[in-house]
Amino acid sequence: MTPAAGPRLTLETPVTYLTGVGPRRAEQLKRLNIFTARDLLFHIPHRYEDASTVAQIAKLRIGDDATVIGTVVSKGILPTRKGLRVFQAVVQDASGLIEAGWPGQPWLDRQIQKGDVLLLSGPVRFYHGRQLSPREFVNLGADADPTMGGRVLAVYPATEGLSFKVLRGLIEKHLDALLPLVSEYLPAAMLAEAGVPSLPEALRAVHRPTSVAAALAGRARLAYEELLFVHLLQRRARALARERRDGIRFERKRTLTTRLKKALPFALTGAQVRAVREIVADMGTEFRMHRLLQGDVGSGKTVVALFAALLALENGYQVAFMAPTELLAEQHVRTIDQLLAPLGIIPVLVTGSRTAKERRLAATRLESGEPLIAVGTHALVQEGTRFARLGLAIIDEQHRFGVDQRRLLGERGRGAEQPDVLLMSATPIPRSLALTLYGDLDVSILDERPPGRQPITTALRPEKARARVLDFVVRQLDAGRQAYIVYPLIEESEKSALKAAKSAYEELTAGVLRGRRVALLHGRLPADEKDETMRRFRDGALDALVSTTVIEVGIDVPNATVMLIEHPERFGLSQLHQLRGRVGRGAEESYCILLGDVSPEAADRLQHFLDTEDGFEIARADLELRGMGDLFGERQSGVPTFKVADPLRDTELSDLARAAAERLLAEDPTLGRPEHRRMQETLRRQYGRALELFRVG
Ligand code: ADP
Ligand code: MG
Repeated sequence: MTPAAGPRLTLETPVTYLTGVGPRRAEQLKRLNIFTARDLLFHIPHRYEDASTVAQIAKLRIGDDATVIGTVVSKGILPTRKGLRVFQAVVQDASGLIEAGWPGQPWLDRQIQKGDVLLLSGPVRFYHGRQLSPREFVNLGADADPTMGGRVLAVYPATEGLSFKVLRGLIEKHLDALLPLVSEYLPAAMLAEAGVPSLPEALRAVHRPTSVAAALAGRARLAYEELLFVHLLQRRARALARERRDGIRFERKRTLTTRLKKALPFALTGAQVRAVREIVADMGTEFRMHRLLQGDVGSGKTVVALFAALLALENGYQVAFMAPTELLAEQHVRTIDQLLAPLGIIPVLVTGSRTAKERRLAATRLESGEPLIAVGTHALVQEGTRFARLGLAIIDEQHRFGVDQRRLLGERGRGAEQPDVLLMSATPIPRSLALTLYGDLDVSILDERPPGRQPITTALRPEKARARVLDFVVRQLDAGRQAYIVYPLIEESEKSALKAAKSAYEELTAGVLRGRRVALLHGRLPADEKDETMRRFRDGALDALVSTTVIEVGIDVPNATVMLIEHPERFGLSQLHQLRGRVGRGAEESYCILLGDVSPEAADRLQHFLDTEDGFEIARADLELRGMGDLFGERQSGVPTFKVADPLRDTELSDLARAAAERLLAEDPTLGRPEHRRMQETLRRQYGRALELFRVG
């Protein structure tokens, strides 16, 4: 009797066909984006625990930073006076006992059982005696050998109900069958240059490391591929765009632009002058401009964009200026109105909420082809909005738009005449990182702030100072100023943040802010209601705004002088910086107050924010400390995401990959040569965009 042969194992085999994977497990795997055998094989550990340097518990001293392995002998949840719940476990090895505490993580009580063997890493502090504060931990399970040492443990990204341990078991079980299905497709010379192993070797090393160094070398191979692919896509996109772009060659007539320079109530900063020069030069070529203008909040991006707009106008073209919300669009109209009034230029507002008559009027003007600046929301790219002569599309807060909307605006031109595109972003990132993230764009950076800005007084205040802080806020309101009070996403959901903001709102309006005009703003409100509340705040009809983190980035309320931030430890530094940028926009002295008791580590981190108002500095610190996600928030779209590579840390690898991508494309632009075919296939399988960029044949 021969056993019924299952379908032959390939990388495309659905995980449900693998032994050890039932329907429930398949559901859990799906949550990790693991659908096929390939996905499982490419589920890469996100860190390693080096169990070869384990300390003896009895020898730990306060101030040490150590890794220990021990068995849980008791555990429980401890409430603290401040309502924080701390999970605690006592672990024991052959030498002794130590307590470990996880503040604010009561759910660990479900994941860690008595008898489990834990690997713990972190500092030892004084807290009712010695206590370990695990920075990282691995539950090795009840059957693990607590005396093991000299082993490197792979720790996988896991999900509710599917621990990394189960994942590791599953991968371990199938690794020997899966590895032979993989072979290298990157040119050997490239791997040699980058000093990384081949793909099968790399996969074996990351899953079954013999040393941390071997695991990291394997990881480097995978990171290199990610970076290479992103550079290939971007270089190719850029090359194709250049090929295709019958751009408009804008001539410097020096009529409007010169008049603006003379009419400006201030002198441009050096950075603004540089950016304007770069943009004007770019617009003057026969290629289409595709440029990102990056600058901190308040660095003066709008004025720079206006010079570009005027260059288009003086050449007889129309300009579209797109903002993510109606409120921001209105704000731009006001700014532009002020700056361009001396030139007799009045912008046209195009948003969804204009009256039918207003919209018809605007539509007629856009279709007439008269040179104008249309400022608006995504209404600018909607059906029925037609520009007869669009020469320049400016997109503010570009990350708030989808790739499609951005592209649509770029295609609003007539026939072959595609408008130049200027994207703007307030996320200040180092140039090297910008090159990796936005390799298909040219980048201009405003790294200088206009002079004469008042510094914003920034402070971190403990919980016991709450009454005094609130008293200070009240006095600011008494003086006619306005205040923001912001709550973070507490725990995991917007829902609980909302609850916190709501109860704070109730408490405040019944207490110190009684009789003041206060509104609650949160993400669940419909967009028009949010806009309405922000408008009332802007127009001075509200004294204070209690809010979750939805306060419009970029909104300008000069009379707001206080930004009070609760639970500051929950924010990324760049996020705090964006929030602080909401005040200090008028003549009055402004304050940003972080309120709450924070851990010593959080205080260290926040110190970077307290120390500087330079967004680039802060972004750099944020990236070092917390990685990319926090820098961009959840909504960044169109930015490549990396599973393995870390574009900030892997700069050397990224530079090598960029150079290799350039050489490769110079030799074989479509990667269609036989020796590049498999690389091309992989690229196409992984990136939808690659389908159009690297067409076969
Ligand atoms: P952001 O880069 O955040 O979009 P804005 O363009 O809104 O910044 O500019 C912020 C404020 O600074 C505006 O009121 C603008 O008029 C002013 N501003 C811009 N450039 C200068 C400058 N060179 N000197 C003084 N004020 C400036
Ligand atoms: Mg702006």
